[in-house]
Amino acid sequence: MKNLNGLPDLHLLKGLELIEGRNLYFYQSYVATFSIASYSVDSIKYALKGVKSRPIAAYPYCIKFRNWTRTMLETICDVMLDAYKRNWITSRDGNVSIRHHDRSHFYITPSGIRKQTLQPDQFKKINIIKALNSSEYAWEEMDHTAISSQLSPSGEIPLHFGLQKMMGQHQDEVRVVVHVHPTYCIAAMHAGIDLSSISTAFPELNRYTKVAPNVGDVPPTSQKLADECFKKLELDSMGNIKYDIVGIKGHGVVAIDANPWSAYEHIERLEHICKIVLASKNF
Ligand SMILES: [Zn+2]
Repeated sequence: MKNLNGLPDLHLLKGLELIEGRNLYFYQSYVATFSIASYSVDSIKYALKGVKSRPIAAYPYCIKFRNWTRTMLETICDVMLDAYKRNWITSRDGNVSIRHHDRSHFYITPSGIRKQTLQPDQFKKINIIKALNSSEYAWEEMDHTAISSQLSPSGEIPLHFGLQKMMGQHQDEVRVVVHVHPTYCIAAMHAGIDLSSISTAFPELNRYTKVAPNVGDVPPTSQKLADECFKKLELDSMGNIKYDIVGIKGHGVVAIDANPWSAYEHIERLEHICKIVLASKNF
C-alpha cells in the first residue's frame, strides 16, 4: 500500500521511529528520526525514493537523538527561509526555539544571523535548570558546535525560555515557538484590529488556530514583552497555553505548536485572514 506520494505506508516502515506520523510534512520532507537496527540502508533508500529531501547521505542513520535534533533544526532553517521569502521577516529578524519533552534543554536561533542562510550548527543549546526547593527555573548556555559557541542566543530568549521551561500540553511531545513579523498581521494591529476578534468571523481560521488578544506596545527583546505574551496566551504554571498565536502591536506574532511547520501554519492562516480583512476595508 502506498500513499499519495508513492511512498510505502507508514506502518510498513516497521523499525523506523518516525515522529509518530504526527505530521506528514516530516515524513515527506525528511529522512526523519529513526533507528535502522532492523532495517537495511537499501530499504530506507527505497522507501524514500522520490522524496524531495536533502541527500540521504547527509544523515548518520544510526544515531537516533542526533538525527532527531538535526532533522528538527534543519526543518526550522527551512521554515525561516520560507518566512523570509514571504516577507514575514527581513534578513536578521525572527527567532525560533524547540524542545523535546524528554530533554531538559532546548535549542534557539542565534542573535544577529541571516535567517535565509541559517544552519543547524549555528543554533544555541540552552540548559533549563530547576532550583532546588523552589519552583524557579534558570537557563545557561551549553556546548553545541564550535560555530555556535561564537554566537549569542536570540534577544527574545526571555520569551522562549518562559514558554519552554514547562511544556504544558506538549509535555509528551515537542514544543516549538516561532516569532516572526508578518506584514498583514502587523498592519491589522496597526489599524486597531484585535486579532482575536477577527478570528471569530472566519471559521477556517478559528477551526485550527486559536488567536489570543493582542499584546500592546512593549519593547522588543524585553522581559515585559515575554510577560505580556504569557499573559495573553494564558500560560499557566505547568506551561499550558490557551491560544496558538498572539500578536504584538507594532512588532509581530508568536506561534506555538508541536512541530515547526504546524506553528508556521498558525501564522500563515492568521496572515491570510488579516490580508482579507484589510482588503475588505470593513473593520
Ligand atoms: Zn521580533
